[in-house]
This record gives sequence, structure tokens and C-alpha cells, in this order.
Amino acid sequence: MIIRQAAFVGDVPFLKGNLHTHTTRSDGLSSPETVMRQYAHMGYDFLALTDHRRYNFTNYAPDTGLLLLPGMELDANLPGPGNHVVHMVSLGSDRKESNGFSHDQTFGSFFVDTAEAALPMFASIVEAHNLPIFCHPEWSGNTIDDIRAFPDISLMELWNSGCAVENGLDMHGAYWDELLNSGRRIYGVATDDGHQLAHNGLGFVRVRAEKNADSILDALRRGAFYASCGPTIQDFYVEDGQAVIVCSPVSLIRFRHFRVPYMQATGSSLKGHQVSVSPGTSYIRAEIIDSEGRMAWTNPIFLGEEMSKERP
Ligand SMILES: [Zn+2]
Ligand SMILES: [Zn+2]
Repeated sequence: MIIRQAAFVGDVPFLKGNLHTHTTRSDGLSSPETVMRQYAHMGYDFLALTDHRRYNFTNYAPDTGLLLLPGMELDANLPGPGNHVVHMVSLGSDRKESNGFSHDQTFGSFFVDTAEAALPMFASIVEAHNLPIFCHPEWSGNTIDDIRAFPDISLMELWNSGCAVENGLDMHGAYWDELLNSGRRIYGVATDDGHQLAHNGLGFVRVRAEKNADSILDALRRGAFYASCGPTIQDFYVEDGQAVIVCSPVSLIRFRHFRVPYMQATGSSLKGHQVSVSPGTSYIRAEIIDSEGRMAWTNPIFLGEEMSKERP
């Protein structure tokens, strides 16, 4: 039996996109049109302009063919000391009847004593039929319990270019395996969160979807995508107890799953690797790094009952 990760099912070509961007509509340094033209020039298929607390529906460069995903970023502030916040990107349909938010709708910051108290912020996103993404947990000073306060959130940032470039933070999903190990089904995205043009184009998702907002959002909800800073992934599946990844030439491939250390595969031009999946494993995922140090991450394959029953 083959269990194939959802990104690698079907014949629809991947779309490249960035889910988290800032412009002069909030604290970004460049205009929405300049940012959209930059991403179009870099060959992206879609872009979400997610300015702080200000919803965007407008495609500022429609002649480029770049698809606009409606969105914004909301925030809740927790008691100090230091930086302790919860930021969530909110993405929604470009069909106004299917999106509870409207263009230029603005919001205030939430001020709360605990992450749980920010649940109304999360609920407001869901009630507007938008898809929430938990942003940059390292930069936000989050504990794992801050993420667990939102039990229904299904997307989190593993890589955030702005935080990586400016602060050396949110370069890797340090929280992701802890959530996956405890049984959470949560998918990982790479984003730019760019506030200036130099931050843009470093972290992205490749989504198996038709080129329209609803299809992309549906694929994000189903985990039919992978995150990357450069390398491409052609396939990822489990067959007869073996996990297999096929990818562009990289110098390192590693697998992650339930508390079982693996030997990493290293070489000058690895195009794939496979390992035995240990009995009792509930999920497995893979990471690759190319010769320039750029990472890509598969989303997890959830292995369910059959594998768990083999626990010795
Ligand atoms: Zn943020
Ligand atoms: Zn942001």
C-alpha cells in the first residue's frame, strides 16, 4: 500500500506563492503595486498582501497575471517582559460572498493575559471563513502552550524570511515536531513576511492547486503543498514500510518522526533517499538542504492505525 503526501497526488502543476507580505498599507517600506510587481517578476503565481490589521482584497498589478490572495495579519499582545505576542495571518476567498471580511476593514490589537484569551481573535478569522496561519513563534517569544491554545489551527510558519534575515529567528520549525508528536495535524509553511524588498523571494510554498484563491485555500487546508527556500520536491510517500523522497539535487536529506533519530544522508548531489519507518510511528516528514544552505520541508504523512498497531 502506498500512502502519498497530498502535495504529490494528482497532475495539477504546482503554483509558487507567498502567503505573508507587508506594504505601505501598514509598516512595509514599498507600495502594494511595487511589491506585487516584484513577485510577478520573480515568477510567482500568487501573493497575499497581509498588512497588519487591515484587510486587502485589491490586486494592485492585475496586468502581471499574479493572483492576489485576500488577507491581513492580526495580533494579540501578552504580558511582558520582552516580546510576547501571538500573530496570525488570515487568508480568504476572493469571492466577496464567501469572505466575511471586506477591503480596508481595519482591526485593533488584542491585549490579553493569556494566549487562550486570544481565542476570539482566532474565532473572528474562522467565522469570516478565512484560514488562519500561526506566525513566527520564535520571534513572538511563544511557548508551545501558546500554539496549543489554538487547538484548531492547521498551519504554522516554519520559516519566516524577515525574522531570519533580521533576527536569525524562525528559520526552522522547532515547535512543529512537538505538536506532531502529540498528535496534532498541523502543516508547515515558509513565508517571507517581507517589510522591504530585500526580504522577498526567500521563503515560499508550492501548492498543488488550480490558479484561483478558493482552490489554493482548499489545498492549504488539506496539506497539498510543501514549503521551500529553494529546492524542489517531486514526490514523498510511504510504501511497504519505506518512506521515500524524490527531490532536486541537494547536499543533505533527513527524515523526522516520532522520537526516532535517523542517520542523515549527505552527498554532493542527492536526488532522493529512503528509510524504514519504525513501528509505532504516527507521522513522518522530510527536510532537504541544498549546496547553498537553502531548505525545503515536506508536510507530514500521517500513518494512522495500521502503522500504530505494529507497535512492539
Ligand atoms: Zn507578525
Ligand atoms: Zn507579518
